[in-house]
Amino acid sequence: MIIAHSIKELNCSLEKILKNKLITGFVPTMGALHQGHISLVRHAKQENDFVVTSIFVNPTQFNNPDDLEKYPRMPEKDIEMLDEAGCDLVFLPSTDEVYPGKDDTTYDFGRLEDVLEGKFRPGHFKGVGMVVKRLFEMVKPHNAYFGLKDYQQFLVIKKLVEQFNIPVKVIGCPTIRENDGLAMSSRNLRLSDEQRNAAPLIFECLQFIKKNFPKKSIQEWKQWFVDKINSNQFLEVEYIEIVDANTLLDIDNDKPNAEKVICTAVFAGDIRLIDNVLINY
Ligand code: AMP
Repeated sequence: MIIAHSIKELNCSLEKILKNKLITGFVPTMGALHQGHISLVRHAKQENDFVVTSIFVNPTQFNNPDDLEKYPRMPEKDIEMLDEAGCDLVFLPSTDEVYPGKDDTTYDFGRLEDVLEGKFRPGHFKGVGMVVKRLFEMVKPHNAYFGLKDYQQFLVIKKLVEQFNIPVKVIGCPTIRENDGLAMSSRNLRLSDEQRNAAPLIFECLQFIKKNFPKKSIQEWKQWFVDKINSNQFLEVEYIEIVDANTLLDIDNDKPNAEKVICTAVFAGDIRLIDNVLINY
């Protein structure tokens, strides 16, 4: 596996790839890798000749400086895992190379930006848009792989590509979970034993709503979820929404059968866990 720390090193490898007309798949990450990330690499490996993974903890998408500072970093272990998964190149750019100057670009994600995560993490998706656009410009992939664990982010990236006509196919991959259902996340590393034991309740409740959805109204389910989660002393709901899976807006009464998504953010102490499930009936 090639390790590139700079754009120059990256370009050196990409030149050969382009010359040989190889198809490139790209997996952007912030490191502290787990099997969720690795599943994206494996997916990319199946569909491309050459797979690039980036590791960059992007400061512009953190609205909370403490979260940025505490974000786990373990590049050596990440590199080992990527090598094992068959990644061809890992790109570890510096902040100066990703952000050489002020970015005056206007990003327009429409209403997607104002709801769910956007409401609670102001500026977050602009930061995501900035870094992914920059990385796409640098890596120039044919295909890019994102986890549906960050469902809203996936929709935002599709909008980004549309807005700037970026010639890349954006592919969403299923959420990978621990055996007890907890969605894998780099932030799980920071959970205490008690918080870790409590956290699977989030997915358990989401699954319960999915299975029993017709039995209650959306308002009733939201209240049910808050009561269930908040009755656990280690968890506290920040938000729970059940919305149209394409627009992330309230379900249109004229389209009761539209695909829906339940999205939530739950705090375990100061660690923020997000999860979602799709409901397609
Ligand atoms: P991150 O390093 O958290 O920015 O995530 C990098 C990519 O991995 C994003 O596309 C995430 O959606 C994806 N990802 C993170 N956790 C999971 C998971 N549990 N299952 C599938 N994909 C994931």
